[in-house]
Amino acid sequence: MPLSPDQAAEITAQRAQTTPTRRVTSPGMEERLYTAHPVLDHGFVRVIDYMGDDAAICQAARVSYGKGTKSVSNDEGLIRYLMRHWHSTPFEMCEIKLHVKLPVFVARQWIRHRTANVNEYSARYSILDREFYIPAPDALAAQSTVNNQGRGELLEGEEAARVLEMLKSDAMRAYDHYEAMLSTEGQKGLARELARMNLPANIYTQWYWKVDLHNLFHFLRLRADVHAQYEIRVYAETICEIVADWVPAAFKAFEDYRMGGVNLSATALDCIRRMLKGEEVTQENSGMSKGEWREFEGVLGG
Ligand SMILES: Cc1cc2nc3c(=O)[nH]c(=O)nc-3n(C[C@H](O)[C@H](O)[C@H](O)COP(=O)(O)OP(=O)(O)OC[C@H]3O[C@@H](n4cnc5c(N)ncnc54)[C@H](O)[C@@H]3O)c2cc1C
Repeated sequence: MPLSPDQAAEITAQRAQTTPTRRVTSPGMEERLYTAHPVLDHGFVRVIDYMGDDAAICQAARVSYGKGTKSVSNDEGLIRYLMRHWHSTPFEMCEIKLHVKLPVFVARQWIRHRTANVNEYSARYSILDREFYIPAPDALAAQSTVNNQGRGELLEGEEAARVLEMLKSDAMRAYDHYEAMLSTEGQKGLARELARMNLPANIYTQWYWKVDLHNLFHFLRLRADVHAQYEIRVYAETICEIVADWVPAAFKAFEDYRMGGVNLSATALDCIRRMLKGEEVTQENSGMSKGEWREFEGVLGG
């Protein structure tokens, strides 16, 4: 359960309030505001606040006095131009503030993105909830045999049951001991800041995370990618859906140039030119290593 009834009621009450404003608003984002979008078994992403829209990107790019927008197609063309030519600062004029609930091991990957502002739930001050990420059957997989940094075949039957049982019972046991160790009225016990060290990395934490659109796109490019770990990728995919509603033109350009596009080396580009001229290009005469060639073939094969 990502939300308690009290938390859900607080969100409903906040969503019921509206305030007239002269600031730009994005209709798609207004719909999303405050709602918790569930991710994994107990996690969520919800938008707490945002600044700007597609027009704000154009306004900054043109350093306009008024709204700065021209026709929709003109603005879309400008946004595509900015994205294509890595003219990134206009995208930094848009900001988003998210409330994210996520397992600690996902938070460790997420926090590596340094160009954001973070405030995390304090487990020195508060007692953590008994909530642990336990993978669904379709995410319970063995080590990949081809990729050292990935997973391969799904676990089934007795093997899946054995692993799940260990994950669940270890989490519960660690939490029972955490609770039993805490200082309470009847015992000296341990401070919250110390007792928490006994908890496993699949316990959930929460934070507010604020980032500008340029750096958010960088995060999404890396974390919504197929090479990212599933457990962070599902958060990135949820954020992608939110961003698509917030700044539709910018997100479309991002999908096209960054998510869907590829960077080619000069060597790879040369190979394509030779192929277009009808030359038979192989790994041996390409100038690329076996690994590079495999990835290059993957790009050409779609
Ligand atoms: C698939 C995948 C596997 C990974 N595997 C590992 C791993 O095995 N081990 C590991 O430790 N990490 C790993 N990482 C994390 C990765 O190395 C980066 O730390 C992470 O993706 C954040 O990227 P970033 O630094 O570009 O992002 P941000 O911190 O958001 O920075 C954005 C950009 O700002 C600039 N920038 C920010 N801070 C500085 C700075 N101090 N100095 C100079 N420029 C700066 C850089 O241009 C940077 O690209 C992995 C990431 C991915 C996506």
